Amino acid sequence: MIKFGPAGNSASFYAEGHTKSTETPEWLKNRGLDCFEYSLGRGINIGGETAAEIGREAAKCGIEMSVHAPYFINFANPESFEKSFGYIVGSLNVLKSLGGTRLVFHVGSQQKQTREDALKNTLYALSKAADKLKTDYPEFDGCKLCPETMGKIGQIGSVDEIIEICKTDDIFVPCIDFGHVNAREHGILKDGGGYAEILSKYLGELGERAVRMHVHFSKIEYSAGGEVRHLTFADNIYGPYFEHLAPLLIQNRMQPYIICESDGTQAEDAAEMKGYYLGLIG
Ligand SMILES: [Zn+2]
Repeated sequence: MIKFGPAGNSASFYAEGHTKSTETPEWLKNRGLDCFEYSLGRGINIGGETAAEIGREAAKCGIEMSVHAPYFINFANPESFEKSFGYIVGSLNVLKSLGGTRLVFHVGSQQKQTREDALKNTLYALSKAADKLKTDYPEFDGCKLCPETMGKIGQIGSVDEIIEICKTDDIFVPCIDFGHVNAREHGILKDGGGYAEILSKYLGELGERAVRMHVHFSKIEYSAGGEVRHLTFADNIYGPYFEHLAPLLIQNRMQPYIICESDGTQAEDAAEMKGYYLGLIG
């Protein structure tokens, strides 16, 4: 079954008087949602006990937890390998306490390197990271790392680059952020074209890992350099539109976790996607 949920708490969660993420799982359950992505984007600033408490609530309410790693990770830069790897380990500790198995992360940026060198360095660093996790951190056995497709052109994370990364080790499960793909490619998904090609590429190259892929879905404003900002489902200028993706998920029997990153209405928009999907499968 496909799971739907938000990244972070919606504005309405706080407007209703809730203050703590320990209250999130029950709030999501009451709205018919299935999963939640906890963001460590700005740093790992949650204590182990708090994470475990959220994890216990999530298990009680049947909410699948995932974590988004800090934005400071850059595996394209060989000099920052230890720092980037440290963020991965720190995030996996939180993920374990939350009871989840998926860690989403931004791979890195090209900066002053050629694209080719940046990708080569990234592939090398990530396969080293995967080996190190398997050898030195058996406690994370079963956890998956989800490299994300990125919205800005200078970031490593095109559709093809994420496939290359996932092919280096089976610890990697792709995270396709369709809003990012659309922004990076200046509206390629806006009219519904392009989805089928991307999905068949992932399914062909990665098989079962693509069937159970991680998905981020939100509408995103873009300009020449790609992503500008996250919007809500009220947008009808930039897209993309879930209505174009949903039938393909059914056709290909896919079972992704779909996380909505709308700006403030992420739970409401996740519920809208779930409603639309359930309507199609009748
Ligand atoms: Zn992200």
